[in-house]
Amino acid sequence: MAEHDRAAEVVVVGLGVVGAATLWRLAARGVDVVGVEQFTVGHPWGSSHGSTRMFRTTCLEHPGLVPLARLSRRLWRELESEAGRPLLAETGGLLIGPPGCHLVAGTLEAARVHDVAVEVLDAPAIARRFPEHGGVPDDHIAVLDSTAGVLRAEDAVRAAAGAAGRAGAEVRTGAAVTGIELVDGGVVVTTGTGTIRARQAVVTAGPWLPRLVPELPLTVVRTPMTWFRPAGGSGRFGVEQFPIFLRDLGGAGIVYGHGTRDGGLVKFALEYDDDAAVFRETSAADCDRRIAEQDWKRIEAIARWAAPGLVIEPAETTVCMYTLTPDRQFLVGRPHGDPRLVLGGGDSGHAFKHAPGLGEVLADTVLGRPPAVALDFADPGRFDPGVPRRA
Ligand SMILES: Cc1cc2nc3c(=O)[nH]c(=O)nc-3n(C[C@H](O)[C@H](O)[C@H](O)COP(=O)(O)OP(=O)(O)OC[C@H]3O[C@@H](n4cnc5c(N)ncnc54)[C@H](O)[C@@H]3O)c2cc1C
Repeated sequence: MAEHDRAAEVVVVGLGVVGAATLWRLAARGVDVVGVEQFTVGHPWGSSHGSTRMFRTTCLEHPGLVPLARLSRRLWRELESEAGRPLLAETGGLLIGPPGCHLVAGTLEAARVHDVAVEVLDAPAIARRFPEHGGVPDDHIAVLDSTAGVLRAEDAVRAAAGAAGRAGAEVRTGAAVTGIELVDGGVVVTTGTGTIRARQAVVTAGPWLPRLVPELPLTVVRTPMTWFRPAGGSGRFGVEQFPIFLRDLGGAGIVYGHGTRDGGLVKFALEYDDDAAVFRETSAADCDRRIAEQDWKRIEAIARWAAPGLVIEPAETTVCMYTLTPDRQFLVGRPHGDPRLVLGGGDSGHAFKHAPGLGEVLADTVLGRPPAVALDFADPGRFDPGVPRRA
């Protein structure tokens, strides 16, 4: 037996935000669990880096995600007290666009179904209260969700892995999983530093999931993130004055971001769309993480009129990845009902806020308990050949 060979009840493969949260929720329930990460915890090569993520409870992606966001908010607070530092600042958030667009209509629908209090602002009210949003057409509106806020990204991943370790999990970094073999009564997970035998594996490998579980219908896309400097100091661009936002520009794309938390840079970035010059299909192994001129070209042109108080020149950027499912909902559950394997992936660009809730649901799945939140629409079985797809 090699030095790092061991047996455990559960092994979690991949410690981005979803895997780290799953490890924490399993360890918190006393499960003998090992988490395996190929790089370090909080590294900048996957989907969970870039200093911040937006938190919203009015989940326009699916009304069924609202209970998951509420559970996650409670668990983010629990993680903050466990870690002894703040992770989520609730600053409120704006969803801006034409009244019928998915951003606005989806948010209002989620708020209606789950009774989340939101405020609707017309264009003059947006201009009065949030003047740094330039060029808002007269017929666009904003939904103000007071429960929205900003999460500290890498710090949240580290906090979850740290909490897992303190609850008894082994956190193994610098260990790439090269194979997950399904055997009688469990799994054998092979890494460069040893073999782990477990009854179950939870695979939370983000954009590397297609390599580990190849038959899944996943598409990985390269998604750059961009920051700008506020002109004339940060006063008008503090996160309270320029809270998190998603803005449908009415045909010119969707932008998102938030004001500065520390007097530094303002996040102002393009949301994924079919612009293949920026959002190129890739694989995690081949993703081009260098920044090219075309990564700035479109966002600079938009910032000139949509946030004219910014200095229109590159300040900072990083490249992340989305792992898209065909219906843009997550993959959470057992593929083919296999009792040895659980998947937590297909993030489709909106999973960070939900990570602790997903960790809780994945832990429930491992333990065979009813899920804390029903996520039937995320069942991997919806993509099984011959099984009709559910929306
Ligand atoms: C630009 C951008 C903006 C976003 N904005 C938001 C937002 O505002 N709000 C929001 O809620 N969500 C947002 N998201 C989505 C969110 O960030 C992701 O859904 C989330 O980070 C996915 O986490 P993950 O743990 O699934 O993947 P990852 O963070 O990629 O983690 C997977 C981990 O598995 C490890 N791994 C993979 N293969 C192996 C292996 N063979 N052996 C060992 N380890 C392995 C990887 O190294 C990695 O650490 C955004 C995403 C991007 C890219």
